[in-house]
Amino acid sequence: MVNQKDINNRDIIYRLRQLDSTIPAIRLAQILNLSRSRVGQLLVALKQPTRVSNIKSIKTCLICGQQYKRVAKTCSPSCRLEYYYIVYKCPVCAKEKYIYRRRLLWIQKRGRNVFCSHACSTLWLWENRAVKKYPKEVVSGTDN
Ligand SMILES: [Zn+2]
Ligand SMILES: [Zn+2]
Repeated sequence: MVNQKDINNRDIIYRLRQLDSTIPAIRLAQILNLSRSRVGQLLVALKQPTRVSNIKSIKTCLICGQQYKRVAKTCSPSCRLEYYYIVYKCPVCAKEKYIYRRRLLWIQKRGRNVFCSHACSTLWLWENRAVKKYPKEVVSGTDN
């Protein structure tokens, strides 16, 4: 039996789907305060797909371009590593290390360096501070 309320809901569902063709039935059910199965029936009546999750979740990996079905920005853990992390070379020992990309940018924006270890950072700080802190003669010896 079709009542006025159903007609209204059907109309709303139709309009929502026009606005966003990938809006899932479960979301429609929440918006209209209807059961998932009721929304399913209305979608069938409207000849609308009841399952759109597959359409929505297909994405293209930002690193390798492969298509995948996940919420993440990349298709696999290795691509994820490449997306979020960047290889950085320690300025002291030249060892390569993965660092969180945004952290590296944050640090570099402040004109700082990233080191592979605490030991390297201490060494670098010691060397560079020494140069700034004392006159050159003191650091380099008796050049004069
Ligand atoms: Zn990938
Ligand atoms: Zn190092």
